[in-house]
Amino acid sequence: MKKMVIISIDAMGASDLSGDLEHLPNLKAFRNQATHVKNIRGIYPTLTYPSHTTIVTGEYPKTHGVINNTKIQPGRKSPDWYWYQKDVQVPTLYDLAKQAGMTTAAFLWPVTAKSKTIDYNIAEIFPNRIWTNQVIRSLSASSPKFLLEMNQKFGHLRNGIQQPNLDDFITACAVDTLLSKQPDLTMIHLVDLDSMRHRYGVLSTEAQAALRRQDLRVQQIIDATKTAGTFGDTTFVILGDHYQIDVSQMIRLNSLFAAQGWQKAKKDGTVAKGWQVYAKSCDGSCYIYVDRKSLVEPREIRELLKTIPGISHIYTTEQAGQKGAAPNVTFMLEAKRGYYFIDEAIGEVLEEVNPTTIGQPERYRAVHGFSPDKQNYATTLMINGGGIAKGKVIENADLIDEAPTFAKILDLNFPQIVAGRTLLEIFENNEEVPNEVLE
Ligand SMILES: [Zn+2]
Repeated sequence: MKKMVIISIDAMGASDLSGDLEHLPNLKAFRNQATHVKNIRGIYPTLTYPSHTTIVTGEYPKTHGVINNTKIQPGRKSPDWYWYQKDVQVPTLYDLAKQAGMTTAAFLWPVTAKSKTIDYNIAEIFPNRIWTNQVIRSLSASSPKFLLEMNQKFGHLRNGIQQPNLDDFITACAVDTLLSKQPDLTMIHLVDLDSMRHRYGVLSTEAQAALRRQDLRVQQIIDATKTAGTFGDTTFVILGDHYQIDVSQMIRLNSLFAAQGWQKAKKDGTVAKGWQVYAKSCDGSCYIYVDRKSLVEPREIRELLKTIPGISHIYTTEQAGQKGAAPNVTFMLEAKRGYYFIDEAIGEVLEEVNPTTIGQPERYRAVHGFSPDKQNYATTLMINGGGIAKGKVIENADLIDEAPTFAKILDLNFPQIVAGRTLLEIFENNEEVPNEVLE
C-alpha cells in the first residue's frame, strides 16, 4: 500500500526555505531529494483553518465552507472555531483514503473534530489551539481510546497550550503512531513557528529558533518510518499553510459602527444583539456583514470605510466570491501592510499595538489573513518519495493544487472536479501523463 505523511509547518513562508539552509540541515537534505514548489499562493483569507481545509480538498473557502477560523458570534468574547469536520462541505483527502481502505491518522489537523474517516485522531478543538483541562471535550472530538493512550505515554511532555511543548507532544504522538500503527495517510500540524511569529515577529530570533525546532521534529518523524520499515513506501510532504506579516496598528471597525448607531457595544467589548452592521476580523482582512433587516445603505458604509487609514481595498460581495472567500458578505476589506483588524467594539478605531499587551487576545506582532497576492507572502511545498522528481524546482503553484496532487500520488480520485489542478510536473516520468489526460 502506498503511504503518505503530510507535515504542515504552520506559518512557514517561501522565504523560510530559500537560500542555502545551512541552519536547517534536515530540511535542506529533504529539499535536495524533493520536488520543491517554491512559491505557493494561498487562499483568501490566508488563515489556518480555511487553508488547511483547502490543502485536503482542493477547493476555495467559498466552496469548502470554512471561510474563517472562527464563527460569527458577535456577542461572544471567544467565539467557536470551525472545529468539526461537519463544517467541511466537500470530500476530503482523508475521506477518499478511508473509502479506499487506507488507515488514516491526524495530529491537530484543523477542522477534523468528530471525523468518522480518521482512525487515529487527536483533534484541534479548543480556542487558542488546544485543550486545557477540558479533557472530556477533547476526548469526544478525537479518537478517545487513542488520545488516552497518547496522553498516558506522552502527556508529561506538554504544558497546557504552551509552545514548544505542544509540538513536542504532538511529534512524540506522531512518531509512536508511525511506529506502532503504521497508518497509510498521516497528517501532522505543527504550530510552534506560527505562535512565535504572532508573539515576537516574523523574523524574530524566537521564530528562527522555532524553525530550527521544526527542522528537528521533521527528522524525528521521517526517522520513525525508517525504523518502522515503511520509509520506502512513503511519500513525504512538507508544506506551509500561509506566511505572516509584521503589524503595529489595530483597526477596530466595530467601534466605528457603534459610533454610527449601527450596533451597540457591550461592556466586555463584544457586540449586542440587534446589530445592523458587523465587522468580523480575519486579521489581515475583514468581512463586513449587514443584517437583512438593516436600513443602512452599503454605499454609506463604503463611504465611511474610505475615511479609515490602513484599509487598502474594499471588495464587493461579488469580488469577495471571485477571490474564493465568503460569498455572503456585503464587503471584504484588505489591510495595508502593518495594519490588522480586531473584533473589539470598544476603543479607538485606530490604535498602535502596545508591546506590553502582546499575548493578550487580539494583540500580536505579526498576523496573517491578508490577500494571498500580497508581496513576499507566499507559502511553500516540498514533496519527496518514489516516483517524485528529485531536486526539481518549480517556481509557482497554488494551495488549491495540493489536494488533487496528493490524491494522484495515492491513486485516489475526488468525485467532483476540484478547483485546483494536479501538478503533473512533480512526477519523475511525467511525459506520458499529459496524453493520458487528453484521452
Ligand atoms: Zn496557520
